[in-house]
Amino acid sequence: MEILAQPVTSLSGIGPQSVIRLNKLGIYTIQDLLFHLPLRYEDRTKIYPINTLASGMTVLTSGTVEFSNVQMKGRRSLLCRISDHTGFLTLKFFHFSAKQQSNLSPGTLISCFGEVRHGYQGLEIVHPEYKIISSTDSITETRLTPIYPLTEGLRQSTLRKAITQSILLCLKDNQHLTDWLPQPILDKFNFPSLNNALLSIHAPEEHISAEHLQQGNLPSLKRLAFEELLAHHLTLLKNKKTVKKWQAPIFKANQSITSKFTSTLPFLLTSAQKRVIDEIITDCTSNHPMLRLVQGDVGSGKTVVAAYAALLSISTDYQVAIMAPTELLAEQHLRNFRQWFENNEINIVYLTGQLKGKARKETVESINNGLANIIIGTHALFQDSVTFKKLGLIIIDEQHRFGVHQRLALREKGQLDNYRPHQLIMTATPIPRTLAMLQYSDLDISIIDELPPGRKPVTTSVIPSNRREEVISKINQWTKKNHQTYWVCTLIEESDVLQCEAAEKTFEHLTHSLPNVRTALVHGRMKSLEKEVVMQGFKNHEYDLLVATTVIEVGVDVPNASLMIIENAERLGLSQLHQLRGRVGRGDQESYCLLMYQHPLSNTGRQRLGILRESNDGFIIAEKDLELRGPGDVMGTRQTGLMQLKIANLNRDTDLLDHIQDSAEVICSQYPNIIQPIIDRWLGHTTHYSEV
Ligand code: ADP
Ligand code: MG
Repeated sequence: MEILAQPVTSLSGIGPQSVIRLNKLGIYTIQDLLFHLPLRYEDRTKIYPINTLASGMTVLTSGTVEFSNVQMKGRRSLLCRISDHTGFLTLKFFHFSAKQQSNLSPGTLISCFGEVRHGYQGLEIVHPEYKIISSTDSITETRLTPIYPLTEGLRQSTLRKAITQSILLCLKDNQHLTDWLPQPILDKFNFPSLNNALLSIHAPEEHISAEHLQQGNLPSLKRLAFEELLAHHLTLLKNKKTVKKWQAPIFKANQSITSKFTSTLPFLLTSAQKRVIDEIITDCTSNHPMLRLVQGDVGSGKTVVAAYAALLSISTDYQVAIMAPTELLAEQHLRNFRQWFENNEINIVYLTGQLKGKARKETVESINNGLANIIIGTHALFQDSVTFKKLGLIIIDEQHRFGVHQRLALREKGQLDNYRPHQLIMTATPIPRTLAMLQYSDLDISIIDELPPGRKPVTTSVIPSNRREEVISKINQWTKKNHQTYWVCTLIEESDVLQCEAAEKTFEHLTHSLPNVRTALVHGRMKSLEKEVVMQGFKNHEYDLLVATTVIEVGVDVPNASLMIIENAERLGLSQLHQLRGRVGRGDQESYCLLMYQHPLSNTGRQRLGILRESNDGFIIAEKDLELRGPGDVMGTRQTGLMQLKIANLNRDTDLLDHIQDSAEVICSQYPNIIQPIIDRWLGHTTHYSEV
């Protein structure tokens, strides 16, 4: 067998336990080991004299033990002071054995490695790695030490030994690894060969410093990052091509049905909406599946566009599935669709994880036997137990809440023979072009770049939280004018429970301080019926003030609500704030958004909130956010579905994105045979979604 394809068990030191752990990291073969790249490096190439240490450095140093004591104050610990001729340093152990204690007796020469920080008695290292040595002569390494991503139970040393063996077997003689990148591309960017790039990433050359490597300008690193991002991009391009291999139902654009629909709407479609609808019609009346992303700012009216698409499907006798990220949003869609389609004989059903027992069984049955025409719900729609009779269209709302994996995994849903449903994806989060390339390049994109007429921009102010009482009295005035208000509670914790508790407290406080204001509470842990009742009540103006968690971030639509207060605004992402703010400014009166922050506000914090004060345009906000935070952070944890990167770093490697797009085009047209090998090499075991 080719050596690269050999299983990791062929290496020494890899037993059955290690194999299981390596598999968890996606490592099965020797080639996988070579492509398991260091997270960072440790520098054990020189001994730092103690007086050159500073807090934050992770270094190798050495000294003679002066004393070591067990300290009982606070948490029991072993304190050991060492000194060289330049100064002293404290080593601190919270877990230690008697043997360890006696080993560190005065006069012993040791070397130690760890992160230096400020302690009570000057600089200290907590739990350093240390060794008793006889001299400092041969304790340094010649190269930086790579630190690899691990999984529970797997030791750094085990992994390192396995990788070192793989390097010796495959890289040293430079003849096992095929370099798939075409020579012209290597030449164009002056990239080293794959073999040498991997070699120098696993075992950096001697003159290279950790900082130098971290900066990411090293040609070897650039090359690998390039190839990795290219692999991701190619996966999506391939997906786009594959779509053309599938058949899709050809929807009939029945003029009389669609014009009846538009004429019953309480408004005229904007020209942007019409344009996007035309693009959708063109897609859905062809015999290949549509894969279209509709981007449109908050409030631009994406839902009605989706409804139009749904109508095309239903009038061709195909079912439509609409997936929203939260129940609240799904319910909102349910209300809208019921309202829009109420006169037609269209059966709309609702399916979320909360639906249980008999009701669930009946709903699932109606989906299966085709009695349900429109199925609205959360990701529960795509459980295995749900099968569609004849699914023609999948609509995914607020795509940024779902990862790329989830999206791609949906493709098979509703597949019948060689037919696949059309897909329409909607998002309010504008993705800068360069990032779209890594996330959406398999999709065709439509943009709704116009808000419905009469929308007034929301006036936004930034206010410290010590002016809270003042803000509360504003609510009173607002209520007297017959307008409604949102109060959004946010917390830094991802924990739902804490958020809801905070909302409950705020609700109590506000109810107490505002006796003449009818106040209601809605949060994520309420039953969906309760939420529905509250939201409907707010919409009917039975309440003046709605205290809410970020559950109202998407979709909620109450035109008379024209004041929004957001607590701890500095802790939220700009797009999220923009989404929240989009709940107001939907009616005909002037609308306001007060961003409250905890004092003191950092410099970036001030700049970020300033962006929102200055702009109401989601695209501008996203771009400025990108400048301040870098693409890696903008993608954020919600998008990490795609971005399990081994070496590329979106903040550091932005400069590569353009080149990747160009090179991908060259590869697709001139070297199609290398697409699959590159994808396999980089995403091999993670592309359960990539088709052949
Ligand atoms: P989003 O794009 O944020 O999902 P929605 O679809 O929820 O926006 O629409 C926001 C509001 O605008 C809804 O109340 C909707 O009925 C209304 N709307 C949509 N299109 C138009 C239009 N062309 N003219 C006036 N109002 C519209
Ligand atoms: Mg929406």
